[in-house]
Amino acid sequence: MLEETLTMTPGPTPVHPRILEALARPTMAHGAPAFVEAFRVALADFQALCRTGTGQPFAVSGGGTLAMEMAVVNLVAPGERLLVVSHGHFGDRFRELAGSFGIHAEVLAAPWGRAAAPEELARALAGGPFKAVTVTHVDTSTGTAAPVADYAEILRGRPELVILDGVCATGGMDERFDEWGVDVLLTAPQKAIGAPPGLALCAFSQRAMEVRRAMPAVPAYYADVLRWLPVMADPAKYFSTPCVNGILALAEALRLLHQEGIQERFARHGRLARAMRAGLEVLGLAPFTAAGCRADTLSVVLLPPGVEEQALRGQVAARGVAVAGGLGPLAGKALRIGHMGNIAAGEVAQTLLALEGALTALGHPTLQGGALAAAGPWL
Ligand code: PMP
Repeated sequence: MLEETLTMTPGPTPVHPRILEALARPTMAHGAPAFVEAFRVALADFQALCRTGTGQPFAVSGGGTLAMEMAVVNLVAPGERLLVVSHGHFGDRFRELAGSFGIHAEVLAAPWGRAAAPEELARALAGGPFKAVTVTHVDTSTGTAAPVADYAEILRGRPELVILDGVCATGGMDERFDEWGVDVLLTAPQKAIGAPPGLALCAFSQRAMEVRRAMPAVPAYYADVLRWLPVMADPAKYFSTPCVNGILALAEALRLLHQEGIQERFARHGRLARAMRAGLEVLGLAPFTAAGCRADTLSVVLLPPGVEEQALRGQVAARGVAVAGGLGPLAGKALRIGHMGNIAAGEVAQTLLALEGALTALGHPTLQGGALAAAGPWL
């Protein structure tokens, strides 16, 4: 049963058989020519996904949080100021992270379910100077997508370095590193990229690399990008043993992604998001996130009165589908359903049917097949 569970959480996401095959290959030495070549191609494919010509890609064993840490500690020194644009739990994580390194973080917080308006960002910047600004593209706790292109207009030409957390967006929603003037795009493989967890991924602009080089030291060893730079320039070099199969899986995931096409992939995520949300509405699972800032990668929906989160998730799991519960103030009140990575109509349909069956089993029946009928036009 466990092996057949469809993982529709907002990370990790279902891993395509081609990627699983890469994971199952005999582990090679990290100096083996075939591995070095796969690593090199994975870095180039990641750079292309970020849409940067000169941004320096990094892939380091760890998680998205390590990528957040790499971005912050390599650009902002203890005692300097960081502006954190937050619309949820993962935005707030930047404040906590900064605090651990003696960096002064000021938070521009949007109410949960909304994103800060571009004018609010402009006002917050006037309270600077800040060394850098963090923006969470999609906050996985609220399902909110920030208007990053509009923020980029405001940040263009300014001295603040721009750090974009794409953990819940990269590979599923449009991101334009060079065009938007991003200095660090950080992400992780286990969401819209569709690979298993285990890597911190980021790209640093040449401006960001210069800022790092100008800092005499940073309070990090493993997270210091200068220690990794020689390996990223030539993956035959060694700093710390890479997770060989994790990199092979990432390489395959990125190959798959580029075979589909970036624009086609974003369009697919848009369609599946509409399908899922149309079905969820019919099931009485109303969107928590305000219209106009809903991410294409996940949906955060409120539970109908009288439906208990644990019981509902249990019933859904009994039907072979895993979904996540609410975080922070939404704990026990919401579901978070991922619809990103390598999924298609079948996974959306299976999820809606599992939810319909689960709600019916809990005494909240809806029109049988109604959710699928509502989703149908988008599938
Ligand atoms: N940022 C965002 C937006 C996330 O959703 C997450 C994880 N859910 C992280 C950062 C942290 O990533 P990880 O769990 O891989 O450390």
